[in-house]
Amino acid sequence: MFATTIAGSLPKPAWLAEPGKLWPAWRLAGAALQEGIRDATLLAIKEQEDAGIDIVGDGEQARQHFVHGFLAHIEGIDFEDQVEMGIRADRYRALVPQVKGPLRLRRRAHAFEAQLARAHTNKRLKFTLPGPMTIADTVADRHYGERAKLAFAFAELLNEEARALARDGIDVIQFDEPAFNVFMAEAVDWGIAALERAAQGLACTTAVHICYGYGIEANIAWKAALGGEWRQYERVFPALARSTIDQVSLECQNSRVPIALIGLLEGKDVLVGAIDVASDTIETAEQVAELAARAAAHVPKSRIQLCTNCGMAPMRREIAFAKLAALARERLL
Ligand SMILES: [Zn+2]
Repeated sequence: MFATTIAGSLPKPAWLAEPGKLWPAWRLAGAALQEGIRDATLLAIKEQEDAGIDIVGDGEQARQHFVHGFLAHIEGIDFEDQVEMGIRADRYRALVPQVKGPLRLRRRAHAFEAQLARAHTNKRLKFTLPGPMTIADTVADRHYGERAKLAFAFAELLNEEARALARDGIDVIQFDEPAFNVFMAEAVDWGIAALERAAQGLACTTAVHICYGYGIEANIAWKAALGGEWRQYERVFPALARSTIDQVSLECQNSRVPIALIGLLEGKDVLVGAIDVASDTIETAEQVAELAARAAAHVPKSRIQLCTNCGMAPMRREIAFAKLAALARERLL
């Protein structure tokens, strides 16, 4: 029996935002949007609790996208003047805002949804923030001139928000760093140091999520081109094992990552992705258990949590919730 949690996002109700999209348009505005976000967050918590998930999250119902939700609260970023740019080493083109001056957190970024979630669940509560390296890869820099410098500037602001989230009663703060899988050398050079800066001094549990991305077309094509074995984690895991971060979340179900690689994460909790977010087929509890058993051959059982491979934002709601139930049913076997 293993503790269960989610990587981060859950699909939003269709009355709140366009379904099936990674960058959905809101369907409400002003006070109605705030109320909609509130209601959707409560539903997300209730669905996780009823599915039997142990460490729940807000389902990222309050943000349009996992990176831009945080950026919206930062001074020095121009959202009016967006440019198209290739991100994740040109895997896809995205319209991104530009950094035009020194960065500063204008106000708390996530107080509303964090405090709301805390007020409505007695479960352990996880909150996700984008990692500094991934943010630096999702904006156009016109000010800092160097990616590492830009990432450290973001790391300071992330740390400010993360400390406040811990004061709100958040138990686990997770930074999402899909860029670690794309820029392996830079991740080891300065990416992990920037991540540690973001997590500096946090009394709560800290986590990092690395993955091969949401189940969208561009990612499926990229994964198909990576060959029979995905060994990207091999370069980053030893450095992560030496880091101050407590937990590592990664994609395992239906991925071609050799499971033995998690053995490189000595001393860390491993959040084993046991739910494929790129497929609508609902996993069985037996499939989840089988994967957990394979993971347990490389990491002590007490250090394993079962998780989703990645965020579920673009999925259909009924499928996402059925998958969460399957994840939690493993313990009943
Ligand atoms: Zn992910």
